[in-house]
Amino acid sequence: MPSHSVSRSDLSPRPRALVTGGSLGGLFTGNLLRHAGWDVDIFERSSHDLDSRGGGIVLQPYVIEVFRRTGIDLDAIDLGVPSVHLTVFQPDGSIRSKHYAPQTQTYWSLIYTTLRSAFGDAHYHQAKVLTRVKQDVATARSRPTSLMALTRRVICSSVRMAATQLCVISSGRNRCHPMRATWPSVG
Ligand SMILES: Cc1cc2nc3c(=O)[nH]c(=O)nc-3n(C[C@H](O)[C@H](O)[C@H](O)COP(=O)(O)OP(=O)(O)OC[C@H]3O[C@@H](n4cnc5c(N)ncnc54)[C@H](O)[C@@H]3O)c2cc1C
Repeated sequence: MPSHSVSRSDLSPRPRALVTGGSLGGLFTGNLLRHAGWDVDIFERSSHDLDSRGGGIVLQPYVIEVFRRTGIDLDAIDLGVPSVHLTVFQPDGSIRSKHYAPQTQTYWSLIYTTLRSAFGDAHYHQAKVLTRVKQDVATARSRPTSLMALTRRVICSSVRMAATQLCVISSGRNRCHPMRATWPSVG
């Protein structure tokens, strides 16, 4: 019987996704994809957790919806403080305007730590920098497969991740270098 190598995609019927950037965007994506039945790995450039990053932030309804879809127990979390009016003050302390604007005020790290702990550690890889995206021409014709070269920032040992059905780059407002290099026209 001829021997042949068996790829992970032969063994697993679950589709596989790689997400670059392990902040809010990457964690939203990773958690939702996993909940939809994907095998997901997240690669984050930073070597440490990002929970010291943020400050106050409005809890948008779509964040709660993502929490719900991810299976997070909303009753177990203190989601924040409700506010009723949006008030703008003058420099002398007098009120310039006041609008009815019910919102929940929360903080960045609550959203991050909730999504981060829901995703877990096993498939969240720190100190991994996306350095290059190479689309295989043959597979690109048949499906949107990407090959990513991820390099450990400090020791520069490279890890090739292949046979991925979906590659999500969630590197924030400033597009990372490999994204600009691969898709220069994407805004
Ligand atoms: C205090 C605070 C308050 C905020 N308030 C609001 C608000 O009220 N409303 C609102 O809409 N937004 C608000 N924001 C903005 C909010 O933080 C951003 O919308 C959110 O962080 C964006 O998440 P992101 O994952 O898209 O990008 P980022 O948080 O920028 O994360 C991108 C991640 O990608 C990683 N990365 C980059 N390049 C690479 C690479 N080559 N390889 C691997 N990893 C890479 C980075 O290390 C980073 O962790 C606030 C932010 C802060 C800090």
